[in-house]
Amino acid sequence: MKGELNLPGNFSAEWIKYENYVFRNDNKGNTYIVPEDGTFFSMYNPFDVSEEILTDILRIGISSLSDDKNTDALLLLFAKKYGLLGFISSSVYNKNILGDDFVIFSEGNPVTKEKIMKTEDYIKTFIPFATEYDVEIRKYKNTVDVIKSEDSPKYYGKKPLVTDLIFSKFYCEEKKWILNFAENLSRHFDNIITYRNTSSFLTESVTIMGNVFHSEKIGFTIDQLDKTFISWKFDSLKTIIEIIYAFSVTGNKNILNKCNSCGNFFIAATEREKYCSPACRNRENVKKSRQRNKKSITE
Ligand SMILES: [Zn+2]
Repeated sequence: MKGELNLPGNFSAEWIKYENYVFRNDNKGNTYIVPEDGTFFSMYNPFDVSEEILTDILRIGISSLSDDKNTDALLLLFAKKYGLLGFISSSVYNKNILGDDFVIFSEGNPVTKEKIMKTEDYIKTFIPFATEYDVEIRKYKNTVDVIKSEDSPKYYGKKPLVTDLIFSKFYCEEKKWILNFAENLSRHFDNIITYRNTSSFLTESVTIMGNVFHSEKIGFTIDQLDKTFISWKFDSLKTIIEIIYAFSVTGNKNILNKCNSCGNFFIAATEREKYCSPACRNRENVKKSRQRNKKSITE
């Protein structure tokens, strides 16, 4: 049975996706994923598709780690379904980015091994195919603004200014950053499985792959409608996926698991549920009974 994740508080968020994405190389030979020319955007709430987005990114991780030929296709499909990850925001400690002179990189980010970079150069990394007429970061005496030559969303300060840039059709991300994130997530889950199987030997708690997650990029407000509730704020799709993942591996019910038959990830109702579907359970049962029959014939 397929379970659904329980997330406490209000986890609604808004993210952008374009109709289609393609690969494009810059003049240094880096491969980017970019919205296809002439395609339109739509907005969606990633938390509405939390199980799917999580299992899709983990599948990319497994595929990439095993050098599967399908990885590129999975990656483009992922972008088409959910958009890009927002690495410009999630890779640095800076909150505002666009108003700052320098950015300070968070540990383990996929963008660079540098510790610090001029903000101007950093931004160019994410809009390598845009001309100055396409996107311009304009600095005034007391404020900064993003001027775009297209009609993607603008938030006028209601969200961090960098969001205006991320949601532009000129914003793109390198293929290897997304693969790195997907690989880390699937490695992290493999680590969890290993620790779970040996947890009876642990005498104190262990932090699993400590530099993977950056909780400082999660904020919240307290909101009022018919009752008072906590409303979580996220800087990027990457952080959203991380929080979905974190809840999916730490609950008692509705927990992330790997199918014992086909190897796909799925949300299980309890940790004991080992198969992603009745088809997989049946297949394993048939296999087991065949093995039993074989044994009894040879005996
Ligand atoms: Zn299965």
